[in-house]
Amino acid sequence: MCGIVAYVGHQEAYPIILKGLKRLEYRGYDSSGVALLDGDLNLYKKQGKVAELESFLDGQSLKASIGIGHTRWATHGEPSDRNAHPHLSASGRLAMIHNGIIENYAALKKDLSSRGYVFKSDTDTEVLLNFIDDILINNDCSLEEAVRIALKRVVGAYVIVLLDKENPDTLIAARKGSPLVIGIGENEHFLASDASPIVEYTRQVVYINDYELAIIKGDELILKNLGNEVITPFVQQLDLELAAIEKGGYDHFMLKEIHEQPQTIFDCLRGRLDMAKGEIVMAGVQQHIDQLMHANRIIIIACGTSWHAGLVAEYIIEELCRIPVEVEYASEFRYRNPIVNKGDVIFAISQSGETADTLVAIEKAKEQGALIFGVLNVVGSSIARISHAGAYTHAGPEIGVASTKAFTAQLVVLTMIALKIAKEKKSIPQERFIHLMAELNEVPGNVERILSDTSKIHKIALKHAAASSFLFLGRGYNFPVALEGALKLKEISYIHAEGYPAAEMKHGPIALVDDLLPVLFVATKDAYHEKVVSNMQEINARKGRLIAVVTEGDNTVEALTTDLIPVPETDELIAPILNVIPLQLLSYYIGVARGLDVDRPRNLAKSVTVE
Ligand code: GLU
Repeated sequence: MCGIVAYVGHQEAYPIILKGLKRLEYRGYDSSGVALLDGDLNLYKKQGKVAELESFLDGQSLKASIGIGHTRWATHGEPSDRNAHPHLSASGRLAMIHNGIIENYAALKKDLSSRGYVFKSDTDTEVLLNFIDDILINNDCSLEEAVRIALKRVVGAYVIVLLDKENPDTLIAARKGSPLVIGIGENEHFLASDASPIVEYTRQVVYINDYELAIIKGDELILKNLGNEVITPFVQQLDLELAAIEKGGYDHFMLKEIHEQPQTIFDCLRGRLDMAKGEIVMAGVQQHIDQLMHANRIIIIACGTSWHAGLVAEYIIEELCRIPVEVEYASEFRYRNPIVNKGDVIFAISQSGETADTLVAIEKAKEQGALIFGVLNVVGSSIARISHAGAYTHAGPEIGVASTKAFTAQLVVLTMIALKIAKEKKSIPQERFIHLMAELNEVPGNVERILSDTSKIHKIALKHAAASSFLFLGRGYNFPVALEGALKLKEISYIHAEGYPAAEMKHGPIALVDDLLPVLFVATKDAYHEKVVSNMQEINARKGRLIAVVTEGDNTVEALTTDLIPVPETDELIAPILNVIPLQLLSYYIGVARGLDVDRPRNLAKSVTVE
């Protein structure tokens, strides 16, 4: 969470930092700020979105060619000007931005306070900054040395970037657990939480690893570990197009990303689904095929929307591969002394590949001997680096905070993995394998069809936009789709929504049903279709406002509701990929109808790098 940008070189730093903060705003947007060093060290901070900071600084002459900027997702202290980053050290010498949490900040703060430090904010960040300042003053050492000493005593996750009045041409940065990329230009360097602020200036980048410290001048980048040993930076070529991180004519990133799905799913299938040979080509799976086929158990670890993708995968893998699967919330798994044995395989699913809980959970499982397989969107991310193998989803940068295209790409990748294992294991007949491959191949076209006319979904959204609560129901493969529909609506519209297995609804949620409650059924044709129709009857009998996602041409439930959303027919195992699309659009249109900022919903942030 939070976006970090910094610049050192020969250009004016402020416009570069401001533009970068706008690109990173999806990571956190409760306040923002910059510190610029031009003889004096000046800090400018504002509560609210980056636009507030921009208008606050409009017309000011900000000439510095070194500076740091931050857009915050508050963990310690309310969103306010005072708590916004950067922070200034008590001595006035240092300014710092921070992404993450310092877990032992209370003890450090107590110690510093007892020695006369007065804090101007409620943040853990200011504590770490003054801890560094204190070491600097008392040890007569360099800032680099002071940072090293401080970080050895710090518990938590961080990226920090420091500006030092006494070394006006140098930035010091360090990381543990949160991401940091350095772009190398012509006598200039760009630092950011991801590559999006960097791509228009340079394609040469270095990803900083945990426990590394960077000393950065315009024309020099020195990388060291916390033991003060110099490390050779691994310079990579950035593979990212500028268009991928811009809105391209759409009102919101979320809508753009929903409409990108035919292409992103196609990209995800490309080169993997070999229809001519009847094969699925996935190098990461192939390398570990024996372990995967003979896994005692597959444990899927994820959070949020990725966890829903994991639930769909559980149904698919158990059905096709006959391997027991468990799906775990990373945050629960990591703290409950889980039983992991050699022979277990962990699938870690994360869009960003930086999700803090997932990262720690898999580190733990890795120590216990499990094979770690990442299903990730961001290439080179932290989880990618600690996984033994994996498969990227190739959905491209996802800027909208509520995940859409990353989710469908996860479903596609997980389905292909299951199919590949099943083929090797011969746990399904060849005809079924070929049939499912063919159905997967149809998905981009089918998604295109759903997106070609969204007017009906828009109309249904407007009809229900004033609801105060929603129920989403589905069975089998469509149960996780119902969960995802409810989550999307909560995130985007702030309407309370629950997802439930359609039959389980009789054991509680049915008490909520009255003539004001919209109840959305994911009711496409599958093995449970008749049972789902019975569940719809039960809601209808209690006057609930039924909405149903149905298979094109199926008129079984026409008598129950006119709010029908038809989707193309496909195998029930593939259906979640199609069925979730109308639910994404429904949330989007309801959020917009309620006048909300759908790309930046309140309290959320994109890449959850705190636990
Ligand atoms: N823990 C810090 C704060 O609350 C940093 C949060 C962030 O990553 O934005 O200010």
